[in-house]
Amino acid sequence: MVANFEAIITENGKGIFHLFPALCKGCGLCIEKCPVDTIGWSRQLGFLGTPVVEPGHGKPCIACKKCELICPDCAILIERRK
Ligand code: SF4
Ligand code: SF4
Repeated sequence: MVANFEAIITENGKGIFHLFPALCKGCGLCIEKCPVDTIGWSRQLGFLGTPVVEPGHGKPCIACKKCELICPDCAILIERRK
């Protein structure tokens, strides 16, 4: 089977949140570290069959990239909105 590396893209606050379900193992580390608590569980499942994450749960994203840096599996890419 070939892994699908397409991202789920969500615009939120100052960030464009790219989440790669083929890499996210649902560890929740990014949820814990987001300073505005915008990351929460999604209804979509990752490669282990566990929920992936999405923004839009707390205050708007400030595009600090903490989640991108903390994710052990490089499953998040944050693009700053202009
Ligand atoms: S995006 Fe990364 S840090 Fe967040 S739950 Fe998935 S694997 Fe863990
Ligand atoms: S970039 Fe910062 S504010 Fe935005 S979701 Fe990631 S940790 Fe939260």
